[in-house]
Amino acid sequence: MLPVPLPRQTLGFFPTPLIELPRLSKTLGGPKILMKRDDLTGLALGGNKTRKLEFILGEALTQGADCIITAGAAQSNHCRQTAAAGAQLGLECHLVLGGEAPAETQGNLLLDELFGAHIHWSGEHRKGEDIPELSAQLKAIGKKPFMVPYGGSNELGAAAFVEALCELKKQLDEQNQSLGHIVFASSSGGTQAGLMLAKKLLNWDVELLGIKIDKQEFEGQNFEQSVLELARSTAKLLGVDTEFSLADVQLDAGYLGEGYGVVGEVEREAIRLTAQQEGILLDPVYTGRAMAGLIGMVRKGRIGVDKPVLFWHTGGAPALFAYGAEIFSE
Ligand SMILES: *Cc1c(COP(=O)(O)O)cnc(C)c1O
Repeated sequence: MLPVPLPRQTLGFFPTPLIELPRLSKTLGGPKILMKRDDLTGLALGGNKTRKLEFILGEALTQGADCIITAGAAQSNHCRQTAAAGAQLGLECHLVLGGEAPAETQGNLLLDELFGAHIHWSGEHRKGEDIPELSAQLKAIGKKPFMVPYGGSNELGAAAFVEALCELKKQLDEQNQSLGHIVFASSSGGTQAGLMLAKKLLNWDVELLGIKIDKQEFEGQNFEQSVLELARSTAKLLGVDTEFSLADVQLDAGYLGEGYGVVGEVEREAIRLTAQQEGILLDPVYTGRAMAGLIGMVRKGRIGVDKPVLFWHTGGAPALFAYGAEIFSE
């Protein structure tokens, strides 16, 4: 499906289901709401990183790596899925996690340990600053480490989301459905960059609405600019001639609340509503916030009722167990 073939390691189950959320739609008095179930990609309870890892680890295997290193937060879904893929492929997995070891091992962290990942706590170095040093240490003892980028967001990870949008378009065409908007959580940018590129390739007038999750800028760079550059370099990797400008990077920063991973009233409402109206679990960090964005934009009329809106469920529910009662406290 991609313009150029890339090395790939099968890890998940595709296409993921495309479903309707009629009760949520009715409760909101809004448009028809569709959901792309990337929480059901498989690979250790699913999520959007399965798609990215198929290409990233395909490349790692091509290069003959025998161990993989990545970084994230203690409750990183990306780290949990990378740890599972490492176990499946027999690649020793090292995770560089921001902060200190918590008193209780729960949620994604519990699963990281279960998959046998080696965990390195990195304090204030929250975005993989310590990876080069760890990589050098592993090389010194004769290993062949491969660095999986933060959030799986390099050109290979974004390419996975080029394919993902093509997968969705095919499903919509088969069902004769049209779409006005696609709402999704955007944090390390690979998902958004891939969707942006695919939208151009498909010449599709759907509006992509990223909900910004993290206040902090990635690698000290303006996040919109990072997404733009990743879309451009992914186009280059795929050998397609596509022009992008900052206007193509639609990001709503209105739902950042108290910052990354802090559950506020709007996330609580979104998680509860989706659970109680549709029996579907969102997560406290990404999809809860992104759904709060969708709900907010429907209420404000930013998303109209005339065309269906699609929510891209990117996974993350294991973190619910680490947050526990906090999800419901006021
Ligand atoms: C990583 C992640 C995202 C964000 O995807 P990016 O490509 O990093 O922007 C969204 N939702 C969940 C559950 C994630 O784990």
